[in-house]
Formats: sequence, structure tokens, C-alpha cells
Amino acid sequence: MSTDTNAAPPARDSAMPRTTLSERVAAKLGQLIVDGVHAPGSLLPTEPMLEKQFDVSRVTIRDAVKLLANCGLVKVRHGSGMTVQPPENWQYLDPLVLFAHVNSPRSQKMLNEILEVQHFAEAELAALAAQRRTEASLARMTELVEQMQTHIGNHARYTALDLEFHEAIAQAASNDLLRNMLAPIHRVVRDGYMLTTELVGAPARSLEGHARILRAIEQRDPKAAREAMNEHLDLFREHIDMRFGATGGTQQLRHEASTPS
Ligand SMILES: [Zn+2]
Repeated sequence: MSTDTNAAPPARDSAMPRTTLSERVAAKLGQLIVDGVHAPGSLLPTEPMLEKQFDVSRVTIRDAVKLLANCGLVKVRHGSGMTVQPPENWQYLDPLVLFAHVNSPRSQKMLNEILEVQHFAEAELAALAAQRRTEASLARMTELVEQMQTHIGNHARYTALDLEFHEAIAQAASNDLLRNMLAPIHRVVRDGYMLTTELVGAPARSLEGHARILRAIEQRDPKAAREAMNEHLDLFREHIDMRFGATGGTQQLRHEASTPS
């Protein structure tokens, strides 16, 4: 019989400090899912088994499972248990899912693959946009670069505008299939954008890159647009490696997540 209460002191080893017991259980279970210990399509252990495993009450397990269901990691069907959902159902922006990925040994490989696909797609979209842009789409892209200049010190605003700019390029390229392929990738890299924007000097260099891309598109020069986008994404990659590389990036992220500035 478990004897926990939600008033238990927070565990110091948790990736998500200052949380309730059910949130910490959800974080641990979420980590096991993202790490592949509980694979998509498989059933989670039953409530009594989880009670034993985590040494917590049934209520805590139920609350934890609700959190996992809210971020798309599991689906609860009464009578047939808790099924681990496929990764396309996961809410990558939910802190629980994001932290599990940052902490996962698989995260580096997944991140590499995502960035590669993003790179190929965006370079070609920039080239197509240079060929197919209209006066209206050019005006939109120009406006976004101007707004980025204005909001260069506001990380959240800059990141949102940055992504909007990339989406405006995809729109100007007029290839809906490629644009739709990129949408979930942008959802995943959004947090990377936000975190790299916080690096000293990063927004200024990023803005220069955006201006170069814009100029090439304006001049209807696909080769220059592709090159400018390649360079811009190489820089993003460099910043991502600085943030999440082998030099304790994960620890740093954990630290910052627990210390709101
Ligand atoms: Zn950008």
C-alpha cells in the first residue's frame, strides 16, 4: 500500500523542478516513452503496476496519466488500458515532451535528422521563391524582415517573426506539398529557434542572413537565394550545436528551465 501525498518535498533529481508528485511521475513515464522503453502502440503497465513501480497512490498515477494524455503521449481507453501513441501525436511543444527529448539519448539523432530535412526543404523553397515571388509576397517578406529589425531584442517576438518569414518564403515558393512537409518540422525546431536567439550576437547575425535571403528573392536570383538560405541554416545549426552540443547543453537547458529570468 502506498502512502504518498502530493505535499511530498520535490525531488532534486527531477528535470522539471517545483512540480507536484503526479507531474514528476508523468515526467518519468514520459521519459520512458520518448526513450522507447514503452514503444508506440504498446500498452503501459496497469495502474496497480505503476503504483508499485513509482511507490505512489492510485490518484497520483491517474493524474500523471491524464498529463501524459494531454500531451498526446498516451491514450486512455476504459477497459482496454493506456496505449502509447505514435510520435506524430505527441505535442512537441509541451514542456513535458520537450524535456523528455532534451534528456533522451535519442535526441541528438532525431534533431540531426530534423535539421537535415529542414535544410534541404528550405534551401529549395528559397530558390523557388526567387523564381515565383509576386509583388505581394515580396512585400510580406520585406515587412517581416523590418519587424525583426524592430523586435531584435525581444526573443519571443523575434522567434515568431523568424518562423513567419520562413513560412512566407515557403508560401512564395508556391509548392504546397513541400510547405506542408515543413510545417511539423517548424513546430519541432521552434524551441531551437527560441533558445539560439538567446545566444549573444545570434539575432544580429540571423537578421543579416534574412536580409541576404530577401535580397536574392527580390532580385529573382534562385542560386543566390539557395546559397543565402544554406548559409543562414548553417549558422542556425552552429548555434544549435553550441546550445545542445556535447558540452553540457542539456544541463544548461535544465538549469535555465528551472530559473526563469
Ligand atoms: Zn531564420
